[in-house]
Amino acid sequence: MNKQALVVGLGFAGAVVARSLADAGFTVTAFEKRPNIAGNMFEYERSNGVRVHMYGPHIFHTDLKHVFNYVSSFSSFYPYSHRVLGMIDGVLVPIPYNFTSIDKHFSPSKAESLKRKLLSEYPQDSRVPVSDLLRHSDPEIAGLGGFVFDKVFKNYTAKQWGTPVEELDPAVLRRVPVVIGEDDRYFHDAIQMMPLMGYTELFDNMLRHPNIHAHLNSDALNRIRPHVSSGKILLDGVPFQGPVCYTGSVDELFDYVLGSLPYRSLELHMEDHPVDLYQPASVVNYPNDEAFTRITEFKHMTLQDLPCATTIMKEYPMDYQPGGRLIPFYPIQSDRNKKLYQDYLALCEKYEDLFLCGRLAEYKYYNMDAVIDRALTVSTRIKETPRYEQEG
Ligand code: FAD
Ligand code: UDP
Repeated sequence: MNKQALVVGLGFAGAVVARSLADAGFTVTAFEKRPNIAGNMFEYERSNGVRVHMYGPHIFHTDLKHVFNYVSSFSSFYPYSHRVLGMIDGVLVPIPYNFTSIDKHFSPSKAESLKRKLLSEYPQDSRVPVSDLLRHSDPEIAGLGGFVFDKVFKNYTAKQWGTPVEELDPAVLRRVPVVIGEDDRYFHDAIQMMPLMGYTELFDNMLRHPNIHAHLNSDALNRIRPHVSSGKILLDGVPFQGPVCYTGSVDELFDYVLGSLPYRSLELHMEDHPVDLYQPASVVNYPNDEAFTRITEFKHMTLQDLPCATTIMKEYPMDYQPGGRLIPFYPIQSDRNKKLYQDYLALCEKYEDLFLCGRLAEYKYYNMDAVIDRALTVSTRIKETPRYEQEG
């Protein structure tokens, strides 16, 4: 008999684990509750020919060479530098806020003075969290910090997270620092690429393996459940003899016994327009004056040459309710929620065959590259576990 493994969810976390275990000789049964593979990376083509990301824009960026090498074995990639503008005080300025943004918002003499001061305090092209500027001893730099905080972060963050900015993990705002220079790329990682034919094809190639049996439209929680007295995961009522990689939410796995882990969600509104292009950049952020946070125009990312046809997506942040129609997109990492997650982790530790991986299962604001890296680590741990090295 083969070594058997179960995988729950087929986003990057589940798909990478499924493929790594399949390559190592495991027979992998995978459950995905959506009708499609690729989790939040799922892409499809609209009737106007534009390829879109159904669950929000996904740009691959990383400093982890081994992660890029791994995904490159399933797809070709093309270079793509993501650029974002923000509509602030009626003007479109680069986000992250940079020297060009300063030029657009301040008089020439004020802008020159601000840029000179910033360059005397920080290295050229460095990326400085807005909180550092706000706390700066120089009143002019602190004033700029206050301006950027009020115009770029305060309202956007309140909309996005539904909580006052002070209650958020400070790491969230550090994702979008102020740039001391003209670099207008949203990310500064060494590798910034997009899969040539899209993420769905990449996932298709990753999951095309004789040892992987993927079941779509299949909520795993109808088939598996933790059995406390045996410390086993039951599959259809029978203890499963092998590793179970779970990439869904842990509160759901334990039937919310300790309460539900809060997430933020999004309503995503797609619109087709009969024009060449709708806006001048892939993404335009609307921090202050709209109910949505940003508009993505996919043609800027896919680089498709389609005259008179484009598709945009507006993101409306929403509360997430377990069991509702929305998707748990963003773990809300307050101290209280992190503690609740730790309590669930203590429950999970009673199940030696249970391996948690991914944004939901680990309740972490992971980017794709970090999830892939983590999934490779989890796969190695499973493969090196002596009890799985024997054939079942
Ligand atoms: P997911 O992609 O969420 O996959 C989990 C899968 O498990 C889902 O398909 C779900 O249906 C399935 N599942 C859950 N429970 C069950 C169950 N009981 N039974 C069966 N299946 C189940 N990262 C970047 O690097 N770059 C970006 O530009 C970027 N943009 C983003 C934009 C948005 C709007 C969001 C929300 C996230 C973005 N991310 C980005 C982060 C990226 O989406 C995550 O890193 C990635 O999705 C994590 O993969 P995952 O496999 O952990 O989770
Ligand atoms: N943010 C903001 N204004 C912006 C862009 C980002 O306030 O114009 C804040 C907001 O709190 C957001 C966080 O920075 O949630 C991280 O932004 P990022 O673009 O990384 O968010 P994601 O793409 O993950 O939704």
